[in-house]
Amino acid sequence: MSGSYYIRQPKQVLGEVEGKHVGQDIKNIVILTGAGVSAESGIDTFRSAGGLWEQHKVEDVATPEAFARDPDLVLRFYDMRRERIQQVEPNAAHYALARLDAAWSGNLLLVTQNVDDLHERAGTQRLLHMHGEHLNAWCNACDARHPWRGTLMDRPACPACGVAGRLRPDIVWFGEMPYRMDEIYHALEQADLFVSIGTSGAVYPAAGLVREARRKGIKTLELNLEPSRGTSWFEESRHGPATLMVPAWVEEILGS
Ligand SMILES: [Zn+2]
Repeated sequence: MSGSYYIRQPKQVLGEVEGKHVGQDIKNIVILTGAGVSAESGIDTFRSAGGLWEQHKVEDVATPEAFARDPDLVLRFYDMRRERIQQVEPNAAHYALARLDAAWSGNLLLVTQNVDDLHERAGTQRLLHMHGEHLNAWCNACDARHPWRGTLMDRPACPACGVAGRLRPDIVWFGEMPYRMDEIYHALEQADLFVSIGTSGAVYPAAGLVREARRKGIKTLELNLEPSRGTSWFEESRHGPATLMVPAWVEEILGS
């Protein structure tokens, strides 16, 4: 009915205007998570280990050049990481975000830089892995991606094309383009609130997302163990362990 269209339209416009100026009236949320969310589950990163990642320099294991130079080293390293993440469990921060995803009636997109599967194991559905996933293999022969829990070191055949030795970890390495940036920016375009959790706001793409959020004039919140190099970009920053800060914030926003 055309009548209902004209009645609804002004309300939606009014709601959007209010959402941008009234803190309690948040409808659409984009959340960015990073290593700080998984750290308390026992997943370490190269940053936490003084530039070394299980005794390897990042440029020796996490770049396309490293893979071209020494594929055995890179595949063995990722086989180890893939095995490791299957031995850890989601923590209170992952569960709180899954609870928010389930309860939130507005748009919500959880963008994670983490390549573990702890957000999905906690139950988050509206999730995007911008840096790929440990539990995926990507065939360089036919471009297919496959769920993968075993090893790649032994050069298995691709389940789709049958070619052996062309599967690589489906991980965005340094120097490669993050996945699905269009979707991330589209979600941010609709958002009233951008929240960055457990990630340094100074490093791209996180830095680009908070700057875009500020340019749009939406609310920005950082939850991080300590002030990050990007802290000054956020309207509000709260510091402490993710397993305490995230559940408290979720409680607060669901209660408001
Ligand atoms: Zn293939």
